Amino acid sequence: TGVLYLVPTPIGNLEDMTYRAIRILREADYIGAEDTRQTKKLCNYFEIQTPLLSYHEHNKEASGMKIIDRLKEGKTIAIVSDAGTPAISDPGYELVVSALMENIPVVPLPGANAALTSLIASGLDTKDFYFYGFLPRGKKEKREQLERLKFYPFTMIFYESPHRLKETLSAMLEVLGDRQLSMARELTKKYEEFIRGSLTEVLEWAKNTEVRGEFCLIVEGSENEKNEENTETKWWEPLTMVEHV
Ligand code: SAM
Repeated sequence: TGVLYLVPTPIGNLEDMTYRAIRILREADYIGAEDTRQTKKLCNYFEIQTPLLSYHEHNKEASGMKIIDRLKEGKTIAIVSDAGTPAISDPGYELVVSALMENIPVVPLPGANAALTSLIASGLDTKDFYFYGFLPRGKKEKREQLERLKFYPFTMIFYESPHRLKETLSAMLEVLGDRQLSMARELTKKYEEFIRGSLTEVLEWAKNTEVRGEFCLIVEGSENEKNEENTETKWWEPLTMVEHV
């Protein structure tokens, strides 16, 4: 059978493409791309001539089956998303599951990712953290999700689009209470910046700025729970092993 490669692409700076990523994209029989026009540009820049297949949120079932068929015929297929690491708030997950069910080898490449890049410069605890991704858009659903995370004691990572940023920051302040966060804006690009401070301070910044660009939010975990003697099982803790009789 063939091989399914998962290939990260830059999140803004083309220099973040790895030598291996370029070689795998060149050598693959096909590239499965979230947006073929976007990937075409990347391929032109790096002189990659591999044919593209469209694989995105809205055709993932039909397109996924075609990709699996080609893998079974022995083809090598590399999956890319628009930017960053496939399968992280981007298409790829279902394809990995299907490939594994067919015993097709899945080979992941390390590379650009907004979440980890933001985390390592946040100044917040990098030892224990939780990747959330995008919160729901609806006000009520967003609050429900934040309620669920209110006592979560570890660093949390969120993606957010610029036009929902203010609303999300104020929901966080309201539900989680004031705490530290580090916001990475336009990572790896010309106007990369970090906005660090309390939720109140960062919300104030957002209110006084024309919010543009891409944002990743790194939010401090709950202080309360960390200091509390509490024996109740938390959903984020591993389940205790059941003893066999
Ligand atoms: N798969 C990608 C990854 O590995 O990072 C994430 C894709 S997700 C659809 C896009 C979101 O990632 C953006 O809305 C933003 O929250 C975050 N993001 C992507 N590029 C970024 C950048 N250069 N700076 C800050 N955040 C970024």
